[in-house]
Amino acid sequence: MSNPVKAPDTLMEAIQYFSDPLTCVQFFAGLRWENAEAVCPRCQYKRISFLTTRLMWKCLDCKKQFSIKVGTIFEDSAVTLDKWLCAMFLIANCKNGVSSYEIARDIHVTQRTAWFMLQRIRHAMHTGTFSKLSGQIEADETFIGGKARNMHAAKRAEKITGTGVEPFHLYRYIDEQAFSFNNRHVTDADRFVQLCSNVSGKRLDWNTLTGKHSVGR
Ligand SMILES: [Zn+2]
Repeated sequence: MSNPVKAPDTLMEAIQYFSDPLTCVQFFAGLRWENAEAVCPRCQYKRISFLTTRLMWKCLDCKKQFSIKVGTIFEDSAVTLDKWLCAMFLIANCKNGVSSYEIARDIHVTQRTAWFMLQRIRHAMHTGTFSKLSGQIEADETFIGGKARNMHAAKRAEKITGTGVEPFHLYRYIDEQAFSFNNRHVTDADRFVQLCSNVSGKRLDWNTLTGKHSVGR
């Protein structure tokens, strides 16, 4: 498979560029593997054949097939890559953050799906350190989600997962803000590629996301 990694400069370009499923696969293969040459995620074997009709690879050693989603934040997600990529372009480049409701409307998925995508994308934004926050840092006091306590319990239960920020999920929101800050001087296309480069090796399933398992951080 050739390595045509070129990133769109605008959301409009992203929509057009990623409307072709093969382009989506090639784009991520180019970011993930040297010369876009796939490596088996199970046995690390490098003799692989690409199944053009299925847009998947087959390992010639263990004989297993795998898609570009394996071992990434997209694994086990039924959402197509064109929607993932457009959501990532939006999130990477929206200066004031974007809600799961906006993502749901923009890419035509349910709000619950959009919320899950948003959390996984924030997971990819996680740098593991705040050390890049250097120089003079100003930290303002703020209330995050303060109005929730004024809601009726039933209303709060209905609203709370979609409106940004519970204490349990606060660090993911902070990951997004840190990512924006660390990449504030690069172009939209470069910021998008930076985010896409972070998706490998970062899975986040529903149980981990909702606190049934520790994510280990
Ligand atoms: Zn293999």
